[in-house]
Amino acid sequence: MKLLTGKTALITGVANDYSIAWAIARALHAQGAELAFTYQNERLKEKMGALVQQFKPKLLTELDVTKDEDIARVGRQVLDTYGRLDIFLHSLAFTPKEDLHGDFYKTSRQGFAVSNDISSYSLIALSNALLPAFEAAGGGSILYMTYIGGEYAISTYRLAGVSKAALEMSGKYLAQALGPKNIRVNGISAGPIKTLAARGIKNFSDLQKRAAEFMPLQGEITADDVAGTAVYLASDLSSAVTGEVIHVDKGFHCVRG
Ligand code: NAD
Repeated sequence: MKLLTGKTALITGVANDYSIAWAIARALHAQGAELAFTYQNERLKEKMGALVQQFKPKLLTELDVTKDEDIARVGRQVLDTYGRLDIFLHSLAFTPKEDLHGDFYKTSRQGFAVSNDISSYSLIALSNALLPAFEAAGGGSILYMTYIGGEYAISTYRLAGVSKAALEMSGKYLAQALGPKNIRVNGISAGPIKTLAARGIKNFSDLQKRAAEFMPLQGEITADDVAGTAVYLASDLSSAVTGEVIHVDKGFHCVRG
């Protein structure tokens, strides 16, 4: 018996086969989960659509989290298509480049709003829209992706880190609010992995090199490393775990040199 047989998962954040969400999708599917996918826009649809066809998703739909109507529609579509939802993966973020790389004290009001809207508020809004589908399943597991730049100031991460801090606290308040409905909410704090989003971060390979100097466990952190923890958090193995953030960073978070 596989760990996720009979469970349905909604996967956001697949842009291409480097996406962390893609590795997680494959791992959830390998454990028996049925998958539904969203894509951000038409431009991304072609590439990711071809990729996900191997899972024959009954639902593959557009979701731009800046649009309330998209969020509400996806909630309805999941319920109409599957009649339930057991797992929701939030694996998306965006911070405007000028506010990611400029002097932090010059962060613009607009950049702050956009970064927090897309990277943090979307977790709350989507959890709300998906609630009827989770309730139909009698509960479930919400997973989100975060980074240590939300706990400590990391010079290359800046405003994105502020949004991760807001995301992690949103995860904890959601865990409190949704616990009585048997819905768990947990984050995975991944070490640096080369993806499309990571390419937008200045000196990303320096960040990888610096982490590698201190990491207790050696070697590159991969999206598949993250996917293993996602399977655990999505499954009943973690039935008493909520409001948690698990670091999948080869131990980087626990050392100081
Ligand atoms: P990625 O570029 O493959 O994924 C980012 C996704 O965000 C893309 O699919 C993109 O379409 C989506 N997105 C951006 N704006 C959106 C919007 N308005 N509406 C809907 N979707 C939108 O990169 P990734 O590294 O796989 O990132 C996934 C998550 O993992 C992000 O939350 C990221 O911050 C987090 N993370 C990444 C790393 C890393 O080193 N790559 C480390 C820790 C955490």
